[in-house]
Amino acid sequence: MKTLKNLFLNELADMYDAEHRITKALPKMIKAATCDKLRQGLESHLEETEGHVTKIERIFATFDEKARAKKCPAMVGLLDEGDEIVGENKKSAVINAAIISACQKVEHYEIASYGTLRAWAELLGNDDAANLLQEILDQEKEADRVLNECAISKNNKEALEEAEVGAGASRGRTDQM
Ligand code: FE
Ligand code: FE
Ligand code: ZN
Repeated sequence: MKTLKNLFLNELADMYDAEHRITKALPKMIKAATCDKLRQGLESHLEETEGHVTKIERIFATFDEKARAKKCPAMVGLLDEGDEIVGENKKSAVINAAIISACQKVEHYEIASYGTLRAWAELLGNDDAANLLQEILDQEKEADRVLNECAISKNNKEALEEAEVGAGASRGRTDQM
């Protein structure tokens, strides 16, 4: 019979896989970013993400289980799209806005997943697991907030301004032809 505990452990294994994939994908994003604030935010979230991997191992341990990974196709897809949007906009004025959009999709997936897992841990009466999940959840929400701040304070505007200059220039060329 499928139990809530099994469901919980399967979803946790999904996130264990997802977090591993994020630790591999973030360095590429950091390298492509040209905004210092964004780069710093991503660098500190990379460290936190490595911590999420070990926290998940501790959560498995609170259930007397060994950590295991189950492929997360959603994260594979989100990171593929991230690769694509970053690849298409390298060295352009919109690169930071593109990185932020890709990273926020990842954060929102994590926030949804950890919110559910924390609620299930509570239902299962495992307070240690619930507390660890809350710690991860808080860091994911903070990472999302920093990305929002980067977008609103600077990167979206820069992307728009540069894009308008670019559009003006190409309009000018068209007019001359
Ligand atoms: Fe994470
Ligand atoms: Fe998943
Ligand atoms: Zn995250």
